[in-house]
Amino acid sequence: MRIAIIGSGISGVVAALKLHEQHEITVFEANDYIGGHTHTVDVSIEDRHYAIDTGFIVLNDRTYPNFQQLLDEHGVAYQPSPMSFSVKNDRNGWEYCGSNLNGLFAQRSNLLNPKFLGMIRDILRFNKQATGALRESEQTVGDYLKKHRFGHSFGESYFLAMGAAIWSCPQDQFAEFPIRFIAKFFENHGLLSITNRPQWYVIRGGSREYVKKFTAPFSDRVYLNSPVERVHRVDQGIEVAVRGGDSQIFDHVIFACHSDQALRMLENPTLIESEVLSCFPYEQNSAVLHTDETLLPKKRSAWAAWNYHIGEDQPRASTVTYNMNILQGINSRRTFCVTLNEDDLINPDRVLGQFNYAHPLFTMERESAQNRHRELIDLDGVSYCGAYWGNGFHEDGVNSALAVTQALNSSENESGATCTAASMKAGSAIVE
Ligand SMILES: Cc1cc2nc3c(=O)[nH]c(=O)nc-3n(C[C@H](O)[C@H](O)[C@H](O)COP(=O)(O)OP(=O)(O)OC[C@H]3O[C@@H](n4cnc5c(N)ncnc54)[C@H](O)[C@@H]3O)c2cc1C
Repeated sequence: MRIAIIGSGISGVVAALKLHEQHEITVFEANDYIGGHTHTVDVSIEDRHYAIDTGFIVLNDRTYPNFQQLLDEHGVAYQPSPMSFSVKNDRNGWEYCGSNLNGLFAQRSNLLNPKFLGMIRDILRFNKQATGALRESEQTVGDYLKKHRFGHSFGESYFLAMGAAIWSCPQDQFAEFPIRFIAKFFENHGLLSITNRPQWYVIRGGSREYVKKFTAPFSDRVYLNSPVERVHRVDQGIEVAVRGGDSQIFDHVIFACHSDQALRMLENPTLIESEVLSCFPYEQNSAVLHTDETLLPKKRSAWAAWNYHIGEDQPRASTVTYNMNILQGINSRRTFCVTLNEDDLINPDRVLGQFNYAHPLFTMERESAQNRHRELIDLDGVSYCGAYWGNGFHEDGVNSALAVTQALNSSENESGATCTAASMKAGSAIVE
């Protein structure tokens, strides 16, 4: 089949990797680089060169089995990455990092602070009872915290902060996520226990290294700076129009971009497409790569891999700073940071780059929409993959692409088998 793949994030790359041997593929990418949220940036400072990740950073050995298998199959090197989380709360002046007692009580006055100690008690209580939340089918995170009387400090300075950081969204939006989904995610990621945690990794040399290896066999089939404007089902197949280029007809089109982008490209979407694809709203994030350490907690003992900041005003967006030296094991006098949604707080002289990434939000309707993924595979010649079909992370991008490619490859094999059976039958008819 002639297959067009729209988007070259992890989902598009895995779809192309699994289809290029059996099919004639063409990958259209709007950006000037392959990878989507896998975006490593080159920085040269003081005669030293660094490759710094600004979007996708980490995977772990527990919840990324298919992605990890692909890395191993393609000989991609990855290295351990220490995972830790800190909070700097300008409203109550707290700073702490959860990875050890020294970081937890980076401000020694908190040893005697009843509110701070109450938050720790709530964390321990939540860790014990959260698996019960798996049964709370209809509740949001906010309802659950209220119902079980978790304190304001636990919500603002721990649980909502961590969720907002993980899903790159404002705290009040995270409070609307379904608690069942969150409890399951926290359990799977070992976030409910102090000891039973997965090992986290980063790709050695920057995450683009895996993209290079995965795409090596079909890199000549990837067209950069090629934003698709319109996709239209026509009699001869599926017409794809790229901005400034001629339209081309394909036998099949895979949307490996975000659901809202796909819906905008699609001319005359079917009812199923309109219904399902509109169930995944997105949150826009501005990510700034910089070396301004004032975005991190004042106390160095509270510095972590992920540093969440609560400003005086209710944050409108996720405000987290990734310490890339910790995460990528970078040895430098400079501290390389990637900060989400606090552009105005960063010293402009320290800025190395600015990027925009959108992350899916999870609503109560999300699960039922996700359960319909199979209906959107090979739907009149069109299929959909992307991390939004799962938790929004790399493994979900991989799994959604595998669901599409397995279905396409097996239907191709079946039609091939039917063909062979038909020709054999025809052949025997001739002999007869
Ligand atoms: C700041 C940040 C940090 C993250 N860190 C991690 C992490 O550490 N670990 C993790 O597992 N996940 C992380 N994620 C989640 C990440 O989004 C997913 O893991 C995954 O990379 C998403 O892949 P995707 O293929 O679904 O989408 P994307 O990577 O967004 O790819 C979609 C592609 O489609 C292209 N496209 C869109 N429209 C068109 C068009 N009209 N024509 C052609 N091409 C088009 C885009 O340019 C893009 O390249 C992070 C997300 C953010 C925002």
